[in-house]
Amino acid sequence: MSIRVTVWGENVHEQHNEVVAGIYPRGMHTCIADGLNTHDKITASTATLQDPEHGMTQERLDQTDVLIWWGHAAHGDVDDAIVERVCDAVWGGMGIIFLHSAHFAKPFKRLMGAPCNLTWREAGERERLWVTSRNHPIAAGLPDYFELENEEMYGEPFGVPEPLETVFISWFQGGEVFRSGLTYKRGAGNIFYFRPGHETYPTYHNATVQQVLANGVKWAFNPAARIVNPNDAPNTAVENALEPITERGPRLHKDGEEGYR
Ligand code: ZN
Repeated sequence: MSIRVTVWGENVHEQHNEVVAGIYPRGMHTCIADGLNTHDKITASTATLQDPEHGMTQERLDQTDVLIWWGHAAHGDVDDAIVERVCDAVWGGMGIIFLHSAHFAKPFKRLMGAPCNLTWREAGERERLWVTSRNHPIAAGLPDYFELENEEMYGEPFGVPEPLETVFISWFQGGEVFRSGLTYKRGAGNIFYFRPGHETYPTYHNATVQQVLANGVKWAFNPAARIVNPNDAPNTAVENALEPITERGPRLHKDGEEGYR
């Protein structure tokens, strides 16, 4: 059985910037998907902001085990109804990986419930990523550290909640550090944030980065059946209590009522 991955690309810089188009002639999303498709047990396809419903129809999400999200210039163009649909899928058990500037993507901010802000500098400096969780599945097969010769700097403080685990910490040539690989669980869904991937550098052509993404997909994959309605909040009537109870005191709600949202 193959893990079904959808790589979602904003696909804006590739259309408007010659440098980005030169590095990623078929789009960053296609480069990421091609890297994943070299791995057994992963089948990756792509979707973009420009597709109808941003390519994120309910049917497509139902058929996606792990969604990868890259966005930057057009976070605000992502329809809020689609954001809710994506978050529902995560709460229901879909894995999701947010890359680089997706720290400000609407679904990431919704899932984190925090500003997700950071410091940054676009100076093509060296990034050294240290593995901080030696036996973590996302670090499988990696050396103690690896380097990307040209990257954008992201620095602490990173305005996200404390993660389940920190898998990587980055050091930058200018001296800053950043928690560059973080895992979360929201509802039944596994979330991985991975920092590298500035659009004007060939980061997603890097073999080690591709290995991290494949590891991340395998880690985020949840083989259990998707929870159909993860927002369900049913009322349990007195007579349905597991142990017999006698109702006491005043009440506002009727048995079986939907309740307030
Ligand atoms: Zn960037």
